[in-house]
Amino acid sequence: LAQLFRPLDLLGMVYRTIRQGAIDMASMFELIDTPPEVTDAAGAPALLVGRGHVRFENVRFGYEAERPILKGLDLDIPAGSTVAVVGSSGAGKSTLARLLYRFYDVDGGRITIDGQDVRAVTQASLRAAIGIVPQDTVLFNETIGYNIAYGREGAGEAEVARAAEGAAIAGFIARQPDGYATRVGERGLKLSGGEKQRVAIARTLLKDPPILILDEATSALDSRTEADILATLEAVERGRTTIVIAHRLSTVVGADRIVVLDEGRVAEMGSHAELLRRDGLYAAMWARQAAERDAALAAA
Ligand code: ADP
Ligand code: MG
Repeated sequence: LAQLFRPLDLLGMVYRTIRQGAIDMASMFELIDTPPEVTDAAGAPALLVGRGHVRFENVRFGYEAERPILKGLDLDIPAGSTVAVVGSSGAGKSTLARLLYRFYDVDGGRITIDGQDVRAVTQASLRAAIGIVPQDTVLFNETIGYNIAYGREGAGEAEVARAAEGAAIAGFIARQPDGYATRVGERGLKLSGGEKQRVAIARTLLKDPPILILDEATSALDSRTEADILATLEAVERGRTTIVIAHRLSTVVGADRIVVLDEGRVAEMGSHAELLRRDGLYAAMWARQAAERDAALAAA
């Protein structure tokens, strides 16, 4: 019987390895690869990024023709400023990020960076200008140094170390037996959610993009780790045009400008205090989440 099982074990191992590879591919696809329908225009120039003024002008988009997601979205994000985008799950917040990254093309309207339509420039130059810290960071079964250096091709050791410092993970790495050469993943070091987010932040620091998207970057974390990471992110946001996508409103109360997405459009816009006074969608979301927090506290 044992004889019989061995090949199956092996098969299982091979299967798991392939599956892990497939998961990595899938997550890479999400971040860097291109669906075949999006191609560079013939002779497209590189994006010339000034300070990173981002504009969505009357943007219409749907994944399927019969189900529009964005129905004429206008959003002007001045260079170097931070805007928070909130809205119910499925409102189209991540879609907005995917369109800016030109993962898909808009069906109507346009998106510009410093006046240049994202469809008119090379995808390589566009994507070099944008950094994304996603909700769930996927790490490669590689060294921790490799996982950070992945942020920019050809980055040197000193640069990787500086990025790790900026993301407040250098101390953690120094405490590992092999430092930056410590392997992470299935058979290596297991990183917590917060540590993984710090690796993602370090990658982004290394990339040093003028435009930054944080897509629910802290939603998978407990509130204490979240507070730590938010403080780190604040430093990263400085001087960059930043879009903070958030589900948990407690993470955006400090933002100068909060945009509420609903029914495919910007429904409300203002500071936290302004939006509460308005007593509309945002105020209702805030009240609901506050009630949930209280209930969780009472249950604890
Ligand atoms: P959220 O505001 O939660 O980030 P998304 O932008 O991810 O919302 O999604 C908006 C809507 O588009 C949702 O209804 C979602 O189911 C749908 N959607 C997202 N990605 C795809 C896809 N690749 N194909 C079809 N529908 C999609
Ligand atoms: Mg989303």
